[in-house]
Amino acid sequence: MTDKIIIAIDGFASTGKSTLAKRLAKHLNYIYVDSGSMYRAITYYALTNNYLPFNDTNLSDFSKKLPSIKLNFVFNSNLGYSEIFLNGNNVEKEIRSIEVSNHVSSVATVSFIRKHMVNLQKEISLNKGVVMDGRDIGSVVFPNAELKLFLNASAEVRAKRRHSEYIKQNVNVDYSEVLNNLKTRDLDDSNRHDSPLIVANDAIEIDNSFMTINEQLIFVKNILKDKFNL
Ligand code: C5P
Repeated sequence: MTDKIIIAIDGFASTGKSTLAKRLAKHLNYIYVDSGSMYRAITYYALTNNYLPFNDTNLSDFSKKLPSIKLNFVFNSNLGYSEIFLNGNNVEKEIRSIEVSNHVSSVATVSFIRKHMVNLQKEISLNKGVVMDGRDIGSVVFPNAELKLFLNASAEVRAKRRHSEYIKQNVNVDYSEVLNNLKTRDLDDSNRHDSPLIVANDAIEIDNSFMTINEQLIFVKNILKDKFNL
């Protein structure tokens, strides 16, 4: 039997990391973990409990609260992947709002929050057989991941893709707001002090500006076959 591996997928905002990760997890019968949804759920909690914007006082309160905030992934057999629950409630829809998107990168700069998230991510992945996407998966969470991918695409292509997703969900948001949000998050994520978004040395870079999801899948499936016999 072939040993299970860890696949780390990092990259800029809206580069299709989760779409590729879900498809690969399905192909390999692995667990898919959306680490961004964990930062989003914590941000949603902080927003709805009036912790934002953080200041010295409420940040200290939040650090005491954090260990008691429950985050779980529950497999949805209709969808074929896991959804995130915050204190027992499915918050998949709430965490994708533009308001959460506008706050999440600043929440993700806080070191004690990152440390807590990384511990949870390692716990979930103890048995390997995991595809996890995020910003620091190949560099910090799993520096020894067997396969590291780094996705990129032009900001305009990414904003167009994200904007049409919002339209499909009947969410009224301007293309320019989506583009600005992506650019701001990319900048914040790349320049933060703790665990910035970087291309790990041993990551394989994929610019998917002009690639379909099937073309990306074929590309990665070939690597899995050639390198890991999977
Ligand atoms: O992946 P997604 O775009 O949903 O992530 C939302 C935000 O969460 C990112 O812009 C980033 O600020 C933060 N994040 C992170 N580290 C991760 C995953 C996400 O800092 N591993």
